[in-house]
Amino acid sequence: MRLLLVEDDPMIGESLRNALRLEGFAVDWVRDASAADGTLASERFDLVLLDLGLPPGRSPVAAADAGGLGVLRALRARHDSTPVIVLTARDGVGDRVAGLDAGADDYLVKPFELDELSARIRAVLRRHSGRAQPLLSHGGVTLDPATRQVTRQGVPVLLSAREFAVLEALMLRPGALLSRAQLEDRLYGWGEEIESNAVSVYIHQLRRKLGADFIQNMRGVGYYVGTPAGPATPPQAGGA
Ligand code: CA
Repeated sequence: MRLLLVEDDPMIGESLRNALRLEGFAVDWVRDASAADGTLASERFDLVLLDLGLPPGRSPVAAADAGGLGVLRALRARHDSTPVIVLTARDGVGDRVAGLDAGADDYLVKPFELDELSARIRAVLRRHSGRAQPLLSHGGVTLDPATRQVTRQGVPVLLSAREFAVLEALMLRPGALLSRAQLEDRLYGWGEEIESNAVSVYIHQLRRKLGADFIQNMRGVGYYVGTPAGPATPPQAGGA
């Protein structure tokens, strides 16, 4: 899961980024509205954590003038449905209402506990993917995003954080093909070194632990579990 954290407070930003990385998320962090706007316009994330009180940044764009709210409005104006949780100050009732009305999926009031943030991230991702059921289950393998436990035919399977991340990405949408690059995006934040054959190694380990047939690949296209339904994000033809 790849998250974009938008937070100008260096202490909150750093501690959140580190804590969320320990939880197994790939986290990128930007510190102002124009950086957030530019990043969201050019890269894909599974979820955005958006502080509403943001400085405009070095090269203010229209969206940056209105801080986090402007970033959110610009995102939704691009018809981008990436889930967003807004982070607001304790006395910011108006901010929370404006955030939800501008298209946020949930909010958290600072200061908050990491456990609550993680639970809200999972809940928002679950709703976004149209699942009511918190467990991911396929072909005898069950994955619990909350406890990060995986079982095969009821027997616990021990996975590394990155093996878990690969498996979770594939099991979220059985049948969807994920390319090596899409999997790398979900595994690594900016500045993290990617070994060239890392994804192949994780897939190899997962097959060893979950059965050789559990993860399939379509040569030159990508990996999937279940019956292939076509590329997860087909290239846009034309566009605005
Ligand atoms: Ca702030």
